[in-house]
Order: sequence, then C-alpha cells, then structure tokens
Amino acid sequence: MIKKTSFLLTMLLVSSMSILAQDKDAVIEAIIQEANENSQLETLGHQLMDGIGPRLVGTPQMKKAHDWAAAKYESWGIPARNEQWGEWKGWERGISHIDMVHPRVQSLRGTQLAWSPSTPKKGVTAELVVLPTVSDSMEFKNWLPNVKGKLVMISMPQPTGRPDYNWEEFATEKSFEKMKDEREEQSKAWDQNMGNIGLNRRSLPIALEEAGAVGIVASYWSNGFGVNKIFGAYTKEVPTIDLELEDYGMLYRLVESGQKPQLHVVAESKELGKMPTFNTIAEIKGSEKPDEYVILSAHFDSWDGGTGATDNGTGTLVMMEAMRILKKAYPNPKRTILVGHWGSEEQGLNGSRAFVEDNPEIVEGVQALFNQDNGTGRVVRISGGGFLNAYDYLGKWLHEVPTEITDEIETTFPGTPARGGSDYASFQAAGAPAFSLSSLNWSYWNYTWHTNRDTYDKIIFDDVRNNAILTAILAYMASEHPEKTSREKAVLPISNRTGEQLEWPEPRSPERNGGQN
Ligand SMILES: [Zn+2]
Repeated sequence: MIKKTSFLLTMLLVSSMSILAQDKDAVIEAIIQEANENSQLETLGHQLMDGIGPRLVGTPQMKKAHDWAAAKYESWGIPARNEQWGEWKGWERGISHIDMVHPRVQSLRGTQLAWSPSTPKKGVTAELVVLPTVSDSMEFKNWLPNVKGKLVMISMPQPTGRPDYNWEEFATEKSFEKMKDEREEQSKAWDQNMGNIGLNRRSLPIALEEAGAVGIVASYWSNGFGVNKIFGAYTKEVPTIDLELEDYGMLYRLVESGQKPQLHVVAESKELGKMPTFNTIAEIKGSEKPDEYVILSAHFDSWDGGTGATDNGTGTLVMMEAMRILKKAYPNPKRTILVGHWGSEEQGLNGSRAFVEDNPEIVEGVQALFNQDNGTGRVVRISGGGFLNAYDYLGKWLHEVPTEITDEIETTFPGTPARGGSDYASFQAAGAPAFSLSSLNWSYWNYTWHTNRDTYDKIIFDDVRNNAILTAILAYMASEHPEKTSREKAVLPISNRTGEQLEWPEPRSPERNGGQN
C-alpha cells in the first residue's frame, strides 16, 4: 500500500514536471517562431528611423515618436501611455545647406548642430577666419574684434581623414608612426593654445558671437571615413555648424594660404518655447503578482545628426518586438511585464531617473530589468551589476535561451553597478536588479554613436532579432521565477584609481527643466 502510493505519487510528480517542462518549452518555442516567422523589426525600423526620424529631446519628432509607439502597443492589444516628467527647450531643425562661394563654388557636407540658432531665410555669406596662436588670454581679447562679420573655425584640422586601422593596413610602419607622432604634437600645441586663450568649448563660441562673429564652424571627427559626431550648439544668436573632415580641412588650408574663402550658410531652425518631455510606458498586467515587475528598458531619444538608428533605435526595436512577441506567446504573465521607452537619456538619463523618482513602488517591485543601448549587435556581455546572487537567477534564465544565442555571451558575476552610461544605472542606483544586455561592437563608437552616419542602413536585423528573442525569453523566465529575486549587494572592490573601496551609487534626480541655459 505504502509502496503503491509512493509509486503513484512519484508518477504524478514526474508527469506534472514533464508537463511543466513541456509548457515552458512551448512558450519558448512560440517566442522563437514568432520572432523568426512574423518579424516586425524591418517595418518598425523603417517607420521610426525613416518616417519619424531623429528624436532629440524637445523636438516635435520626439513627441511624434512617443505617440507612434503608444499607438503601436495599443494596436497589439497592450495598454500604453505617455507619462510627462518634465519640460525642455523646444526646437525644430530646418534646412542646413552650406556652400563655399569663394574662391570657387563647392557644395559642402555639413549640418547645423542641435539647438543652433537660425540664420535668416536667405542665409549668411561671410569670410572664414581661424583662431590665432596667442601667448595669453589678453592677446586673444585684443584679437577678438577681428571676428566681426566673420565665420570662425574653432576645431583643429585633422592631418589625415583615414582612420588609423586603414593606416595600419597599408602604411609602412615608419610612416604610420611618423603620422601619429606629428598628430600628437599638433594636438598638444592646439590644446596649449586653447589653454592660452583661456576659454573652453562652451565659453569660446559665446565669446566669439558676442564679439560679432556671424557663425561658428566646427568639425568633430569620429575617427572613421566621412563620419562626424553631431552634438549641441552653445551659441545663442548665431548658427553653429559642423563640417565633414575634409571640407573643413580644405577651408582651413585656404584660410592659411591667404585665399580668404567665403561660405554661404543656410541653417534654418525654429525655437518652440517649452515642450513637455515624456516616457512611453506599456504593460502586460501580471495575473498572479501584478505588483512585481519585469521591465524591458531602452531609451527612446537620440542625437539628431543621423536618425538615431543604433543609438538607440535598435534597443527600442528589441524591446517593442519582445513585447509584441510576449503578448502573443505569453499573454498571461505571472508578474507584470512593463516596457519603458525613456526620454532624454542623452542629456543624463533624465527619463529613467524621473521614473525611478516618481514610482518608488514599481522600483520596489522590480523582479528584473533588461536594458539594451549600445548598438545593433548581438548581445555578447551581461554583468550581474553588483547583485551578489544575480548568478542564481540570471544564470538559470540564460540556460533556457537557445545555445546559438547564448554561445557568444560572456557573463560577469557579481559584477559592479554602473555609474551612468544608460538607463539601467538609474534603477541599479535605487537597488533594483537591473541588467545591461551589452552588444557586439559593429564599429559603434567610431561610426554610429552620436554621428551623422547613425542611419537605417547600419542596422543588422538578424542580430536585432536575436536580441528580441533573448529579451523575450529572459522576461518570460523572470516573470515565471518561483521567488522574488534577491537584491543583496556585493561588497564592492577597491578602486584602482582612488585606492578606496567603491560605494554603491546613489539615485540622482533628473533635469526636469532642460535646455534653458
Ligand atoms: Zn544610447
């Protein structure tokens, strides 16, 4: 009798376990199948990057993107909302068109920086000047009146437009070394002169416009062929433009050889007063533990020299697609699955910091957060973020992901918490188990990050699909996990830099009234 019961019990246990395993496999299989056979990534990517375009904080496109994302979620049956958390200086980019008109005519490749003041509709035509070599700030002040009515070139001209990897491949060792030595010397001399001038990258453009310059011409090379980083302008009245490396270099040489080159610059833009800033939040409510959260996280904003395709269009696509797939393959999650598309990450994690500050109960209920924000590549690194027991659960969840996806992933446990970099840091600072899904490089730092080349053509859709599957399975496993995850913090190591023990970062408040100077 006893024997029989125990046999039956064993049978029951075995069969219920195998049903569980089967269900689990069925959900994971459904996730993979939906991702591969009904992918929406290309369509979403086209609509967001090509149709809406870049998503600079405070621009109408940013608002348009939030509305588009919320409508997408609603169309998939996932309730969504745009939560306002602050305001930012409103601005809209218009036409940038830059031509050299003397000593000959050539159309140039360049654009105004974000928040650049507008030229008149007809543009400005003016001669270029370069900064003088001075021995002190007084000498610079005496020179300043020379900029009246001129366009001023404020960046060091690069000695070569070939990236170092190209030199390394083709140059003789001797000439490669020589180029690097000369470049280093030139950079040192440039920095020394800037020190003598006594102004920095913020105060110099303002001093120049106050002295009557009609525009600032810069060039921020990103160390790749034809690629520049495009950030924000500091001028308040006159436009600031960025020119590609060789257009800038050519003009610089013409100024130095006394040819007095002139540009015609049309850089139109509109100031729009204060604009509200948002996070787009969508969620699939948990059926058993609605107050515990698995959060999918990616910032939604971008710089606007390109279309923000890999920073962070691809992270955005991963999270949207994972949510869409989860709604189909796992419509009744145990815990709430929430996606956050944060605003104004680029100016200091502002959207996610606001969310953390405004929603302490959600932060308290975080089971796990997965953030992706370093380009289009397959995820290859995951760190435990300094959570002592992260391996116990994260390791288990990763085990359920197909090995063809996890094979390349290097994990670090317990790791250390981030001090910035992307939005997971906002949650880690508040003690919530938040993790970064870190991508393979795909020349991110040189070619797409904050550049004029961060566009749709750089997206590697197979890698993004891979990441959507990974994220959806991790979210599913985190939602089903039997216990609430541990957020016990590891003892942090001694800093190599200061020799003192590292401390856990503190939550920081967002900038809720940005761009007001
Ligand atoms: Zn980013």
